[in-house]
Amino acid sequence: MNSVPFTKEETEPVTATRVLVLNSGSSSVKYQLLDMASPSPATTLNRAAAPHSDDHGSRLACGIVERIGEPGGVADHAAALKQVADELSAQGLGLDSPELAAVGHRVVHGGTRFTEPTLITDEVVAEIEKLVPLAPLHNPANVIGIKVARELRPDLPQVAVFDTAFHSTMPEAAARYAIDRATADRHGVRRYGFHGTSHAYVSRATAALLGKEPSEVNVIVLHLGNGASASAVRGGVCVDTSMGLTPLEGLVMGTRSGDIDPAVIFHLARVGGLDVDEIDTLLNKRSGLVGLCGDNDMREIGRRMAEGDADAQLAFDIYIHRLRKYVGAYTAVLGRVDAIAFTAGVGENSAAVREAALEGLEPLGIEIDAVRNAVRGNVARLVSTGTSRVAVAVVPTDEELEIAQQAYSLVRP
Ligand code: ADP
Repeated sequence: MNSVPFTKEETEPVTATRVLVLNSGSSSVKYQLLDMASPSPATTLNRAAAPHSDDHGSRLACGIVERIGEPGGVADHAAALKQVADELSAQGLGLDSPELAAVGHRVVHGGTRFTEPTLITDEVVAEIEKLVPLAPLHNPANVIGIKVARELRPDLPQVAVFDTAFHSTMPEAAARYAIDRATADRHGVRRYGFHGTSHAYVSRATAALLGKEPSEVNVIVLHLGNGASASAVRGGVCVDTSMGLTPLEGLVMGTRSGDIDPAVIFHLARVGGLDVDEIDTLLNKRSGLVGLCGDNDMREIGRRMAEGDADAQLAFDIYIHRLRKYVGAYTAVLGRVDAIAFTAGVGENSAAVREAALEGLEPLGIEIDAVRNAVRGNVARLVSTGTSRVAVAVVPTDEELEIAQQAYSLVRP
């Protein structure tokens, strides 16, 4: 071996196959480094459920920097990204590596402007900043993450992947609110939807689990995490989703109310004396499960229900009632439903929620199998009976992988 004249590096140019995914929130930065030349975990664990036939992206590193700007935390986003860079360097995976092909940034709101993963330029950053009024909590943090990452590696392609993009195919009938059109258009008031990368990934993975192409199946995706949303996906194309102008609309969530009569807001202002910001906080942070029973963790709610706690039981019942309404609504929207897919923290882990959501829906062709549903697991799987007309699936979501794949598809040689 010593007689080999050149090292591997000298004879073969390094191909850049790694993507760093950054999810910059207001007080945290989550990161994952993936190698897009290796098969994805979905492919390794369960070939059938890999959402792409050439599904690639294995995780090399991941982590989170929390408490940005808080006592005991790092000072700001620049310091947080520096820490990400240091953590990667310590593992021999530094940001200066020639193997890094791109940085993929999760961006919450793309408005009507961004409907595809987008190579970031100064102009794109300015456009994302213009969307801040639509996502005042999220987009500013996303923009800071982008700016700092561009300063760290100005030569590297950076790609924005938008949470709203998958829903941009919604027809006007689903995307518009029935309010004065001129006012709505002037202020960008329409339904955008969120969790799009998850709905995209899970709907495709569900098709793969059924051994079909996405274009062949109609799927209802129920993304039930702390935030929660449902979507109706016809032949791989989103036709409706439960979140709207903001993530507040739709399902009952950990801390958000989901759907309410908008007049509740006028009433709380006029009769309750609350101002707009107080009502915003009430509906986004002190409602949903936490507002109803004091807990937003479904595990704790389950424990309390087992002890006969009436508040926890009522919170669960309201959560389930809303979820069933959306299953019914999206069944009607789609006409033919091939699969219902549960994903995210609650959807992947709570057999009780899945069972209660679909119990008694046999007339709609939905038969959940109690035994299969009770089995825990971390791979995509079916939990419906062999005779169920509608497949019921549990499909672990992987938003970072989806972002990495979308980013890599833009920059790969
Ligand atoms: P997000 O990404 O929106 O913060 P996740 O998708 O991680 O949320 O989901 C978090 C939620 O998942 C928790 O608040 C909890 O209610 C729920 N969860 C996690 N594990 C379980 C479990 N084993 N059983 C029931 N619910 C669970």
